[in-house]
Amino acid sequence: MTDFAGAIARQHHYLTLCRRRIDREAIRQTWSISYGDPGFTGPYGDPPAPVERHTATSLTRAVADSRWIHRGACLACSWEGESRRRRDEAIEDAHDHTHPGWRDLPIFDRSPTGKGAATWAQHIRAVYPGGWFEASGPLRLYVDPPFDRHEAGAAPGGGFILYTARPKKDRPEDEQLLLV
Ligand SMILES: [Zn+2]
Repeated sequence: MTDFAGAIARQHHYLTLCRRRIDREAIRQTWSISYGDPGFTGPYGDPPAPVERHTATSLTRAVADSRWIHRGACLACSWEGESRRRRDEAIEDAHDHTHPGWRDLPIFDRSPTGKGAATWAQHIRAVYPGGWFEASGPLRLYVDPPFDRHEAGAAPGGGFILYTARPKKDRPEDEQLLLV
């Protein structure tokens, strides 16, 4: 195992291995930034530059039995979370590092379309801490299963949208019927 850690260092190492075109399986088993997450480059992109503000992302690699494991990571420092089975858990760990307190924030429904959208945006900004979105803080939204992937870059300031399954009792009547 390599003696460095952190998203930037690992992505540099991964890209070096890709350029050398070493064994494909060895590349799959090397930590790299997950598809679509901050700092993602794919196998042949330019290495990501470190950023100043602690920024949540995730790492992934293949393990035995064609499974993949995931870890929260940061684009500003060498912090890494525990290995997780699900990418969304890793992203949540990363937010414990970058935006402590996010788990206590209120969870909203998605923005209505049309006229209500501006009021909705004003409301969430009023309820979340001042400067939260400017600091790339995540927005928490309810989602009906099947579960959406936490979405990079989709919050008002460019942070993540972190989804929570809506409690069953709160789902609209017609959807409950569909689930029966
Ligand atoms: Zn950090």
